[in-house]
Amino acid sequence: MFHWLQHIKRRIKEKSPSIIYSHEGFLPPSQDTFSAIGELSRVVRNNPDAVEIYLALGNLFRSQGEIERAIQIRTNLIARPHLEPQFKARAWFELGLDYKRAGILDRAQAALEQAHRLTGDDPAVIKEMAGLSADSGNFQKAADYYALLGQPLPRAHYLVKAARQDKEAKDSGQGQELLEKALKVYPGSVEAWLEIICRDCQESDWNSLSRNLKSALENGDKNLGFALLEGLFQFIKKSSDPLAKKYIQQECSKTIVNIVGQMDQDLVLCYYCAIFLRQSGLTAECLDWLEKALVLGPDFWPARLEIMELSQEEQVLTESFKTQLLFFTQKAKSVKRFVCKVCGLKREQVFFLCPRCYSWHSISFRTQLSE
Ligand SMILES: [Zn+2]
Repeated sequence: MFHWLQHIKRRIKEKSPSIIYSHEGFLPPSQDTFSAIGELSRVVRNNPDAVEIYLALGNLFRSQGEIERAIQIRTNLIARPHLEPQFKARAWFELGLDYKRAGILDRAQAALEQAHRLTGDDPAVIKEMAGLSADSGNFQKAADYYALLGQPLPRAHYLVKAARQDKEAKDSGQGQELLEKALKVYPGSVEAWLEIICRDCQESDWNSLSRNLKSALENGDKNLGFALLEGLFQFIKKSSDPLAKKYIQQECSKTIVNIVGQMDQDLVLCYYCAIFLRQSGLTAECLDWLEKALVLGPDFWPARLEIMELSQEEQVLTESFKTQLLFFTQKAKSVKRFVCKVCGLKREQVFFLCPRCYSWHSISFRTQLSE
């Protein structure tokens, strides 16, 4: 038993990167799927040893949502007495994906563990186990799997999630350690920096905010400074009285403006200074920063929208005109401000892992409406 396992492991290492083929993207157009299923079913009936085809048939069933039939195929294969361990591992792996698709996460986990036992640290298996742990809210475990995969960015991401979970659960000191670990494995982790500056704000520790925001903007992944400030803004908004007009403390805004003012001028960061100042009731300073943003980027629509809203209060407008203006400003405010640079997905909320193409840190701010 041990001998062949070693043998398999060696063979896995030699084949790169995975004996579990990449199934992603293997989705034939659905009009062809039924004929493919028919064809493959005929082949396996005549040739029950064609394990590859048998597995492919299971995948086709899964792609059609026929999970029970897919599971049946895998379990039949696994039960075969003389099935080559390589195929057995594949069958367990696919069974794990079947259960995941069916939403039965504990069974998915158990099946993937069987595949893991047979293949050693096969990247395809580990990747699925990482995703499954993250989906089940077991963020520490997800971080451990990403450590095995040698991917520090997602590892840090899930360490931060674990720290946040810890804070919500019992507010112990472990959260702080997890954040430090996240920055140690990946110093550019915007997620870790964001969590740190949110904690500073919560404790109204402006000196610490000043220090940490500076480090965050200097060390965090380039061009993601906006995600830090957007994240902080949303955090404060969520923890404030929804009816309060000026819900950001002036010390907070002033600290942010002071730090951003020391950095190289950045269009979007200027805009965020204005946003914070506005919610602190510092309207004149807010307008200054909006003007600064427009000097850097005359097409930067969110700054123009803010200026229009602010100056609206000083105008004498007819009721009808006010109604039309309100309609358009509301429409403009609902424009999705963030876009994935890889797949073009647009979102209103900041994301660190693209929900469509699964790219990490691919988000950018749509500085132009045509983006
Ligand atoms: Zn994407």
